[in-house]
Amino acid sequence: MVEKCDILVVGAGTAGMYLSWLLAKKGYSVVTIEKDEREKVAKRLDVIHFETDRIKNAGIPPFKVGDPDCIEIREQSTQVTTDFTTEVKTRALQTIVRLTPFLNRMYKVLEADGVKLVFSCKFLELIFDDGKIVGVLAEKNGERIEYHARLVVDASGTGAAIRTSLPIDYGIETFKLDPSSVMYVLLQYIKWLNPEEKHPLPDTGFQYYLLWFGPCQIENGAILGVGQPGSYENARKAREEFLGKAQLPPYEIVKEEQGFTPYRRPPYTLVGDGLLCIGDAAAITYPFSGHGVTATWNLCMIAAEVIESTLKEEGYISKDRLWPINVRYFRDQGAKFASLLMQLSGILNFSAKEWDYVLKSGLLYKTGDEDEIPEPNKEYEEDMSLGEMLKFLFKLIGGMLKRQLSLKHVKKLLSANSLAGKIKKHYETFPEDPNEFDQWVKKANQLWKQKHVAIKKLETFSIEYH
Ligand SMILES: Cc1cc2nc3c(=O)[nH]c(=O)nc-3n(C[C@H](O)[C@H](O)[C@H](O)COP(=O)(O)OP(=O)(O)OC[C@H]3O[C@@H](n4cnc5c(N)ncnc54)[C@H](O)[C@@H]3O)c2cc1C
Repeated sequence: MVEKCDILVVGAGTAGMYLSWLLAKKGYSVVTIEKDEREKVAKRLDVIHFETDRIKNAGIPPFKVGDPDCIEIREQSTQVTTDFTTEVKTRALQTIVRLTPFLNRMYKVLEADGVKLVFSCKFLELIFDDGKIVGVLAEKNGERIEYHARLVVDASGTGAAIRTSLPIDYGIETFKLDPSSVMYVLLQYIKWLNPEEKHPLPDTGFQYYLLWFGPCQIENGAILGVGQPGSYENARKAREEFLGKAQLPPYEIVKEEQGFTPYRRPPYTLVGDGLLCIGDAAAITYPFSGHGVTATWNLCMIAAEVIESTLKEEGYISKDRLWPINVRYFRDQGAKFASLLMQLSGILNFSAKEWDYVLKSGLLYKTGDEDEIPEPNKEYEEDMSLGEMLKFLFKLIGGMLKRQLSLKHVKKLLSANSLAGKIKKHYETFPEDPNEFDQWVKKANQLWKQKHVAIKKLETFSIEYH
C-alpha cells in the first residue's frame, strides 16, 4: 500500500504531536505514525512537569486543575541544603501533568484540525530516491505501508529511529545515546504513612543529590525522584546515600517508574534533505532539569514557520531550504542550552559543603534582596549585569576566604563559565550559509573538547558527568 502526504511524522509523543498539529493548522496534509496503541502512548511515565509560561507560548489549550490530565499548577518550589538546615524558596511556575491523558486530549484536537494519526504503526526504514529521503516504509498489523512525503520528521524519542539509521554521509550526526550522555531517572510514587509527621513537601529539591520530592495524584503522597548519569545503579546509590541522612518519616512505595533523558549537546544540524529531527531524537532538553517537552516546543514553533514558507514553493525540500530552522534555533535557545551544559561541568564538581555555601549565599539562584523569593530565569541564560557579576565574584572570593569553597573548584567553575560564554557566542553565529557549516563545526568541536568531565564525590562513591 502507498500513501502520500506533505509531512510524515514518526512518533506521537509530545514532540511529534505538537509539530504535527502546528503544520496541520497551516493547511498541510500531515500523517503521524506511532508504534504504540492510542491509549498506551507514553505509558512509561505518569506525572510530568511542564513550564507553565511555555504552555501558553505554545498555544496549547489551557490545562484545568482537576481534569484527568492536570494535577496542579504551582508557583513555588524549595531547595534544601545537604545539612538540612536551610531552605531556599524559588519561584517555579510549573504545571503538573498526567502525560497519557494529556496526549489523548490533544489527539482529539489534532484530528479536528486534520492530522491523520496512525497508531500501532512502526517505522521500519527510510525510502530514498537518488540518495535523498522521499518517504518511509512502515508496518501496521503485519501490513507494509509506504508513506511518500515531501518532509519526514524524526520524533521517535531517545531511540532516534530515523537519525541513527541515516547513511553516515547524509549530513546529520548518527550518534546513539550512551550511558555517559543520559540521565538515568528513578521515580518512586510514595505515600506518607504518618502524614502529620514533618516530611519534605512537594516541590522540594535536594540538588546536590539531583533528587527531589514532586507532587503527584496520591493523597498524602509525593514522587521521590532521583537522576544520575552512568547507570540506574548510580541513581539508586545517590538515593540510598540521601535516605541514609534524611531521616524521613515512614512511607510506602505505591509504584515505581524509570527512564532516561538526554544529557548531551544536540547534533550540530537538525535538518537534512527531506528530513527534520526534533525532541529527544535530537537530544533537546533543558540541561539543568532534563525536561524536554516544552524545550522542543520552542524548536517546533520555529520549524513550523520555516516549513510553511518552504512548502509553498514547488520542488524537493532540500537541506538548504530547511537550514533557517538551524539558524534560528541554534542562535537562540540552542546557544543558551549549550552554554548551560558547559556551566554544569563547573558546578557539578562542588562537594556537599561547597554546594551548601553556593545555595545559602545565593550564588546559584539570584536572591535579590533578603527574603525575596528568587525569580526564575525564564530564558535560561545568564544575563548578569556588571553589578551582579561583581556580587557573584565577591561571594566566590568570600567563600574561599571562609574556607567554604576550594580554590581548585572555584577555578573549575570560572573556567567552565568562560568556556560557556565562548560556546554561546559561537552558537549565536551559527552560519546562515550551509557552505560555512564545516568551518563552524570545526570551531564548535574545539570548544566542546575543552569541556572537562565533572566529578562529584559522594560519601560512598563518585559520579562522572561528561
Ligand atoms: C523519568 C523521566 C521523567 C521526566 N520528567 C520530565 C518532566 O517532568 N518534564 C519534561 O518536560 N520532561 C521530562 N522528561 C523528559 C521527557 O519525557 C522527554 O523529553 C519527552 O517525552 C520527549 O518527547 P518526544 O516526543 O521527543 O519523545 P517520546 O515521548 O519518547 O515520544 C516518541 C514516540 O515515538 C514512538 N516511536 C519510537 N520508535 C518508533 C518507531 N520505530 N515507529 C513509530 N513510532 C515510534 C514512541 O512509541 C513514542 O511514543 C522526563 C523523562 C524521564 C525519563
